[in-house]
Amino acid sequence: MSLLAESKRVAAEFEYVDDDVRKAVVEFIDEMNEGLEKNATLMSQIPTYVTAVPNGTEKGLYLAVDLGGTNFRVCSIQLHGDTTFSLTQSKVAIPKELMEAKTATELFSFLAKQIEIFLKTHHEDHFEKHIKRRMTASTPEGYRNLEYFKLGFTFSFPVHQVGINRGTLIRWTKGFNIADAVGQDVCVMLQREIDLLKLPVTVAALVNDTVGTLMARSYTSPGKTGTLLGAIFGTGTNGAYVEKLSKITKPMDGHFDESTGDMVVNTEWGSFDNNLKVLPNTPYDAILDKDSVNPGIQMFEKRISGMFLGEILRIALVEMVKKPEIPLFSDVNSSSNDYHSTTTIAESAALYKQWGVDSSILSIAEADNSVGLRVLRQEIEKSLGVSAPSIEDAQAVKEIAHAIGKRAARLAGVAIGAIVLQTGRLGSLTVQPPKPSSEIVSDIKSLHLQDAAAATVNKLADAALPLTGAPVSEDDVIDIGVDGSLVEFYPGFEDYMREALRAMEGIGAAGERRIRIGIAKDGSGVGAALIALVAARMEKPEDHVNELRKKLVEVEDAIEE
Ligand code: ADP
Ligand code: MG
Repeated sequence: MSLLAESKRVAAEFEYVDDDVRKAVVEFIDEMNEGLEKNATLMSQIPTYVTAVPNGTEKGLYLAVDLGGTNFRVCSIQLHGDTTFSLTQSKVAIPKELMEAKTATELFSFLAKQIEIFLKTHHEDHFEKHIKRRMTASTPEGYRNLEYFKLGFTFSFPVHQVGINRGTLIRWTKGFNIADAVGQDVCVMLQREIDLLKLPVTVAALVNDTVGTLMARSYTSPGKTGTLLGAIFGTGTNGAYVEKLSKITKPMDGHFDESTGDMVVNTEWGSFDNNLKVLPNTPYDAILDKDSVNPGIQMFEKRISGMFLGEILRIALVEMVKKPEIPLFSDVNSSSNDYHSTTTIAESAALYKQWGVDSSILSIAEADNSVGLRVLRQEIEKSLGVSAPSIEDAQAVKEIAHAIGKRAARLAGVAIGAIVLQTGRLGSLTVQPPKPSSEIVSDIKSLHLQDAAAATVNKLADAALPLTGAPVSEDDVIDIGVDGSLVEFYPGFEDYMREALRAMEGIGAAGERRIRIGIAKDGSGVGAALIALVAARMEKPEDHVNELRKKLVEVEDAIEE
């Protein structure tokens, strides 16, 4: 079989047709509802105790910290109340030895120390004023006037959240291992160390990155429509959306403000359909899963996110190289290539290493539309470790990479579409009087991803034009915030998601036009700040005084000791 025919055959294995999309949406909605009703389901549907999203008028100065896998970020965010913000940030790598410290105190005291350094560097004023007031505060009003920073804590490890600033660590991931932290409240641990340093900081909110994305997008998105969903397509994939409180029927331990009738739910959709009832499953997916550290788990994520797409491609290419009759990365083609050298794969090549291939090669393959595929061929040398690949080799890689990327985006579309349908947001449509067609074009253009290349946006808007009936009014927009390198950098990721949305019953071309998708920049910082603000609003004045009084007594005690 020719290389071209074989690569087309492999690419076809990744085809994910409209009918499959529709079946998956039905199952996704089922699993979402199951997760809202009971514990220990495939999709965890974790209540976040956040009961409202911002509208862009929020104001104030907040602190946010983000403990991800490798770095600890501290930032302060000034929300200007007009959908804009300013952000000051510092970032420090977490010392390897602290990831496996003997006690949690070692890690958390390091984190508190970073907050102190940040405050002294960037908010000296505030810091000094606080120390003075602290010494003179003797009345309840005095306590209230202490200028405490409210801090939002983005903590990207699995936690059992029991309140807006309460959550116990379930387990460490990403190379962390500090036994005595498991089962403890991470906010309490951080607050304790902050108090020992007498910093004017209250840990007000515990934040998942998806919720941060949702909040940040809702604050910055144009118009007064609140954002429905925050979704991550980076190393992993997950989403958080605004659900009706009445639909969350499983027990919830924490206290929250019920007045909005809504609560943000963290879906943990990475584990959608772990049983593979509806998800596509090529031989390459099966190999990836079997050789992973968690077979049978995170099956949706394993077909969508940045951590896995490069590996799927690698496995598919290795399977092709194994077939003697298929001339991939072999001399047959390279004899005629313009390097005039022999194609060779070193034994130590990344192509043969599990997790050796980064997903960014998929974006490079997708973007290179030149005749000679020179950029992609260089990338194949660099990141697969194949020397002197031919044009035909690069065409094969491009064909398969494209199929994997497109399938990922269409699967991502399933999650988005299912949530749009679950929340019933398409139900209400305001009919607008017809507008002149030039205005229609600009309306539609504004619907599409802000960060996409302008040319693509224009092309998309123009392509969408024939489908339009009446233009979409601001009130009818369903706003979605996204973040992560994959959605940001994979060319056409949004287009393929939209294609899937148009195929869905109950959405179609008309519904798809109403869905606005935008990147949430600095989502983790801004989002955490916004949740800290929400938390502060939820607090009753008495709580505030009592909390500060208690804290001051504790700090004083600590000083005396
Ligand atoms: P995180 O998920 O840690 O917040 P990112 O959103 O930057 O970080 O996602 C990192 C993931 O995205 C990695 O798995 C990486 O392989 C993948 N990635 C990075 N750049 C690209 C790209 N240009 N195209 C596709 N995937 C990419
Ligand atoms: Mg991220």
